[in-house]
Amino acid sequence: MSAITTRGLTKDYPGGVRALDALDLDVAEGEFFALLGPSGCGKTTLLRTVAGLESATSGTIHMGDTDVTRMPPGRRDVGMVFQDYALFPHMTVLDNIAYPLRIKKRPRSVRHGKAEDVAHYLGLDGLLSRRPGELSGGQQQRVALARALVAEPQLFLLDEPLSNLDARLRLEARTFLKQLQQRLGVTTVFVTHDQAEALALADRIAVMESGRIRQLGSPTEVFRRPANLFVASFIGSTPMNLLPGRVREERIVAAGTELPLPAEARDLVTEGEAVVYGVRPEYLDALPSAEDGAFEGTVSVVENLGGSSLVTLDVADEPVRVVVGEERAQQLAPGDRAWARPRAGRVLLYR
Ligand code: ADP
Ligand code: MG
Repeated sequence: MSAITTRGLTKDYPGGVRALDALDLDVAEGEFFALLGPSGCGKTTLLRTVAGLESATSGTIHMGDTDVTRMPPGRRDVGMVFQDYALFPHMTVLDNIAYPLRIKKRPRSVRHGKAEDVAHYLGLDGLLSRRPGELSGGQQQRVALARALVAEPQLFLLDEPLSNLDARLRLEARTFLKQLQQRLGVTTVFVTHDQAEALALADRIAVMESGRIRQLGSPTEVFRRPANLFVASFIGSTPMNLLPGRVREERIVAAGTELPLPAEARDLVTEGEAVVYGVRPEYLDALPSAEDGAFEGTVSVVENLGGSSLVTLDVADEPVRVVVGEERAQQLAPGDRAWARPRAGRVLLYR
């Protein structure tokens, strides 16, 4: 039994926007599940619909074996962190954290005891009598997490909780969040538009586009084997090389280069067929000289990534990006000839 199951979940907003389009989703008990996709693809809508803050137009939502589709949000046993945290500015940190327990009408002593415990757990001791305006962004975020956790919900929903933090704090908060989830083991759905965040945090990722799931899998699966061009171009810190190509005599010609046909694609393509040849910059190996089955081109740009470099080669008028190690990068300058070979087993073909 899954922690959350949606079937045919559809959400139409007034004005004819279909924000969720017949979504089928299963989130396992204890899982850290990421919803990843560009702005406007329906991530927030999905989270709010699961929380009960939006009503489903059609379809069903189950939590465990309970149908919660029409259940009011207060009864859903969900803790949510909003993108802007939505803290109450006039309340102290302690009262903010204790708020969900007040809604549940727990006695004051219980409220304060539990709020202090969770505040301690999140490193917020000493800040309890402040107001949100007197806290840093990172502290506000922890208060929002504490408030979502205080009632020990079955399900933790996080809407881009790291996006308001600056780059450095964001990395720290990411690690903190991962540790927190590991310790608590609470089923978590985490929304982000940042593929690196999803890859780093999640047990599984659903990649969304226009209210639909385009791929669902582990970070490794989604990174190594993007199921379609949308996912291929969305995942990866450096964009995947996607080159127009054609099948010719058991090989592929792309960027003027004859390349081996991936073994698993052999029976799936036909002579003369147009395909898109996909290979990640990380999966191209720089070579010291020309070799069969390798790209040959002129270096146009070398970008330092810190520890490695991203080299863009002009190969028959197509840019081919290659990640190369520090030492090799130092030997390359714009205008140089350079060679790069796709690693066997790491090439993907798309139609
Ligand atoms: P995301 O969180 O992935 O950026 P949203 O769920 O916020 O996406 O939005 C999905 C789509 O629904 C967008 O086209 C957005 O403009 C639309 N939308 C979101 N909220 C509303 C609303 N309250 N009324 C009308 N349209 C909305
Ligand atoms: Mg959103």
